[in-house]
Amino acid sequence: MVQNTRLSMRIGEIAESTTLKIDSKAKALKAEGRQVISFAAGEPNFTTPSHIVDAARAALDSPNNFRYSSATGLLEMREAIVRKTSRDSRLEVSPSQVVVTNGGKQAVYQAFQALLDPGDEVLMPSPYWTTYPEVIQLAGGVPVEVFAGTDQGFKVTVEQLESARTEATKVLLFVSPSNPTGAVYSHEEVKAIGEWALEHGLWVISDEIYQNLTYDGARAISIVEAVPELADRTILVNGVAKTYAMTGWRLGWMVGPTDVIKGAANLQSHLTSNVNNIAQRAAIAALDGPLEPIEAMRQAFERRRTVIVDALNRVNGFRCPLPQGAFYAYVDVTGALNRNIQGITARTSLELADLILSKAEVAAVPGEAFGPSGFLRFSYALDDQELIEGIQRVQDLLA
Ligand code: PMP
Repeated sequence: MVQNTRLSMRIGEIAESTTLKIDSKAKALKAEGRQVISFAAGEPNFTTPSHIVDAARAALDSPNNFRYSSATGLLEMREAIVRKTSRDSRLEVSPSQVVVTNGGKQAVYQAFQALLDPGDEVLMPSPYWTTYPEVIQLAGGVPVEVFAGTDQGFKVTVEQLESARTEATKVLLFVSPSNPTGAVYSHEEVKAIGEWALEHGLWVISDEIYQNLTYDGARAISIVEAVPELADRTILVNGVAKTYAMTGWRLGWMVGPTDVIKGAANLQSHLTSNVNNIAQRAAIAALDGPLEPIEAMRQAFERRRTVIVDALNRVNGFRCPLPQGAFYAYVDVTGALNRNIQGITARTSLELADLILSKAEVAAVPGEAFGPSGFLRFSYALDDQELIEGIQRVQDLLA
């Protein structure tokens, strides 16, 4: 009660990020000297490739970088993003259609702020990334979950979307590869969904932050590549964090139609202004630089993915499909619930995550953070040795 009067209703309703909560719990246990292995974090364990770090170092010699720059981003940065968008999303844009943001997260926030009025509904495929429903609500919107489980490879269909559509639906949120499931939509699937969105005059916010992390030769097809006519109603969200191992640099962007981008830029001009110029110089080197270091990281993820999914499927009560993208394995753990495990019975994936953390000292994020209970998300962005030992502990605990 007291808290309600101290905080605004808007802020009072925001839930703490479950992923960060689990991660800090794991770190606290580690600080007590316990041998915790954490599969909770959503970041590569690699260090940023050296040519990118060198560009940042060189930028420190140029005092121009110490001053305010354009709130929308350095022109050279936006030009590099234009090339990257053409290369990977097959969309031709101009620098005036780009805003450089403090991570993909700010781009997601601003995209919803730019599009939503109170009561507007957003179709949100579930399991979804924890941040989406919060930022949709902060923009006055209503997230509408459309759930796709293991049986459909965690991919929603046009039929499901159509039955969730109402007069109030304004935006479809699309993300492929997905966090938390790693699902990658095929060209045909993207095209079908894109054509349906076009037919109904919907806007699309397409989160492409994992677009370069795909496996088995799969390619993430941008919705604007599959349906080019949709470009006038689509905002692409992206960033360097995952592909280039640059999570801490905080560099992302949004690309879209000029009027919407101008609106988002106006917001950003009052919110954060320009992104740190040094980080922008580094990101230019990332986007324009050699692909070998990036490819080496991608291959490491591809290899670990097979290792972890094999191991997870040997855990009593776990069922894990092979994901084609990102660096997460999303496990159906319903077979491990309601069983007596060392005197404790977990009834939900939240309770199971707690049990595994306290008994096996292994951290994974429960499905409750991403939608329905019954799942655990394991990130495989950690080194091979830890990965094998961590899953072995879970196998032993649940044997
Ligand atoms: N979108 C998705 C789906 C993500 O998983 C993340 C990071 N967890 C982001 C956007 C934002 O990434 P960042 O702000 O670090 O660029």
